[in-house]
Amino acid sequence: RLLLGIETSCDDTGAAVLDETGAILGESLHSQKEVHLRTGGIIPNVAQHLHRENIERVVHEALERSGVEPSQLSAVATTVKPGLALSLGVGLGFSQWFVRQHKKPFIPIHHMEAHALTVRMFHPVAFPFLVLLISGGHSLLAVARGVDDFLLLGHSLDEAPGETLDKVARRLSLIKHPQCSTLSGGQAIELLAKDGDRMKVSFTTPMGQIYDCCFSFAGLRNEVTRTIMKKEAEEGIEQGTLLSCVNDIAAATQHTVAAHLAKRTHRAILFCQANGLLPLSSPTLVLSGGVASNTYIQKALTIITETTGLRLLCPPAKFCTDNGVMIAWNGIERLREGIGILPPNVGVFYEPKAPLGLDMTAAVKAAA
Ligand code: ATP
Ligand code: FE
Repeated sequence: RLLLGIETSCDDTGAAVLDETGAILGESLHSQKEVHLRTGGIIPNVAQHLHRENIERVVHEALERSGVEPSQLSAVATTVKPGLALSLGVGLGFSQWFVRQHKKPFIPIHHMEAHALTVRMFHPVAFPFLVLLISGGHSLLAVARGVDDFLLLGHSLDEAPGETLDKVARRLSLIKHPQCSTLSGGQAIELLAKDGDRMKVSFTTPMGQIYDCCFSFAGLRNEVTRTIMKKEAEEGIEQGTLLSCVNDIAAATQHTVAAHLAKRTHRAILFCQANGLLPLSSPTLVLSGGVASNTYIQKALTIITETTGLRLLCPPAKFCTDNGVMIAWNGIERLREGIGILPPNVGVFYEPKAPLGLDMTAAVKAAA
């Protein structure tokens, strides 16, 4: 069986053809990162325009590289939720045309489910496992109990960690920094933090008095911004021109994000252990999303998993961020189980907001 996966939920146009074992036969990815870095964030109609310009070529390339004809496909899987409405619409519109044209079944995909399951392409991880997804648009902790069976233990109440790092990087004008001109905000902060002293600036770890597994990053961003403003005022310099303590601010920001993620994850592990939600033999924490490639954050989580007896698994960095491969893989997982496979002519709508799984956040809080 052969699957075509299509991803356009945010700022990457991705497509891939996989066989049933998860072997990648062909893939193509067009990233809009550079354009959005220049405009200082994603402008939805610009993203839509770029998806429209690239979708046909990207899908064609993935098919051509795989040597698979559309007629040989078993189904097409496409992200339909959650994400930017205008971006989701392009992938979904193209996919619906494609499946009707070639009379193929259609498998609508939840983007976060795809992120959570990607690891199973690379490691034999059985359900259930705990997953922490941290990216530019999301942060969540969930127990994956099956391909489409998740218990949501925590999510962000405001912004995502990647978004926070991107905004801090923008406030510091890191794009003008010689080493950082092509890096995402999170990558720039990780790089600069290496030469910083986190003890020189101190930020409050968010939600210290709230004993659940939810996240909040907006308050931290405000605190970091206030510190930057204060330093700029002290030095009598223009906004975004601070140089003196940028490394220290980067290190302290990264540390506080890591500490917050680690504390919530620790609580989630204890909740799972107390309620028998994880297997006794080789319980696993899966870490994924763009922010998961941060080695400082990985180390913080390793300390948590080592002290609680879990193993930490991460898909290869390339597959932690958005791509067509993870969507095709999710399609294969659903095809194997016979879940959510639609005939070609059924109308499907995209959903910009779509929580993953059964909401257990209140139960976690009550148990703490
Ligand atoms: P989503 O997947 O939620 O729709 P997205 O597509 O923006 O959001 P990803 O592509 O998974 O997210 O990841 C991009 C985010 O990851 C950006 O916010 C970026 O700053 C962050 N990021 C990338 N590398 C690192 C790093 N080394 N350290 C911290 N953050 C990073
Ligand atoms: Fe994503």
